[in-house]
Amino acid sequence: MLTGQALAVFRKQLLAWFRQFHRDLPWRGTRDPYRVWLSEIMLQQTRVAAVVPYYQRFLERFPNLHALAAAPEEEVLRRWSGLGYYRRARNLQKAAQQIVAEHGGEFPSRLEDVLALRGVGNYTARAILSIAFEKKHAVLDGNVLRVLARLGAVRGDLRASLRSKELQNCANAYLDRESPGDWNQAMMELGATLCAPKSPQCLLCPVAQFCKARKRGIADLLPEKRKKRATVPIRLAAAVFADERGRTLLLPPPEERNAERLVDYGPALASNLWHFPTVSFNGDPVAKLRSHLRKLRIQDQDGNLQFLAADKVRHTVTYRSITVEPFRIRVRKLPRIKGAEGVPLGEITLLPVSNLTRKVARAALAAAAEERTAGVC
Ligand code: SF4
Repeated sequence: MLTGQALAVFRKQLLAWFRQFHRDLPWRGTRDPYRVWLSEIMLQQTRVAAVVPYYQRFLERFPNLHALAAAPEEEVLRRWSGLGYYRRARNLQKAAQQIVAEHGGEFPSRLEDVLALRGVGNYTARAILSIAFEKKHAVLDGNVLRVLARLGAVRGDLRASLRSKELQNCANAYLDRESPGDWNQAMMELGATLCAPKSPQCLLCPVAQFCKARKRGIADLLPEKRKKRATVPIRLAAAVFADERGRTLLLPPPEERNAERLVDYGPALASNLWHFPTVSFNGDPVAKLRSHLRKLRIQDQDGNLQFLAADKVRHTVTYRSITVEPFRIRVRKLPRIKGAEGVPLGEITLLPVSNLTRKVARAALAAAAEERTAGVC
């Protein structure tokens, strides 16, 4: 741990580097807690480059907390559509409504109040409070953990509770109390750019002289890898109906309390958005899909529906490796199911849908195009 003069130099050099070289991102430079909060939620488990256009489009439609709180949930999900992990969007809106109801629409500035908001954890609360309100809270995300582990040449599992507490203490001790917002962003920026997981660029690092891992030549080896959770394969079959006008059938998001019961592939599509009729299977996907459609009360008189296979779609959600087999089913008229919607297959994003559902639609459209070409030849 650095102390005294060394700590002062360390802080000065890191802050100067950050202020001169930080990446120009749309949420940098703002102290508006709503914007800081939005960026932090969008950045959870999502790359910066993917977040930028969503952040800007979301703000165009919901420029402030009141606009977000008052909007229909479906519209919020539509603006989030494609970014993944949709629980974040639902929680964001619920928290906005909480702020309107409990804090008169003013973003709270006390740690306990921010932690009480839906979807806000320790890291996010500290990031918002330090950046928007200059509160003296040090953050500890994956980037900061890596920087601290290398600076102190810390071995072992950083997420182990005792180690994690020590590292939070270390982050607190390093925090620049004059500029906590810039300081937290500087530590994260260092981890996201020069002190990246692979091949850290120690020659360019503004605090290289304080780094024990660099001195020992083990920067590349830290943090030590944790054991990965085994991948769980999930196989799904999806029914992509197409009527004479090119419209398809999407089912609404199951209500949360019924999700597990109604949707046996719930864990795979935890985002619970609009989706094709889908079922998990082990043996024959068509047989399983037929029986699933019967459960949904979709008529298949004497097995008349034809199931035309499209290319398989692969998708990964954390440790789940999902393979979907889409089957196109041509019908004169779309089946009528309570709550379901008919939308053009090429425009399913008119409703909030997940990336997986988009991929299934693309596979079905490609199969239909191929069929048309084959017909012409
Ligand atoms: Fe990271 Fe290298 Fe800087 Fe150490 S010297 S903090 S390993 S970039």
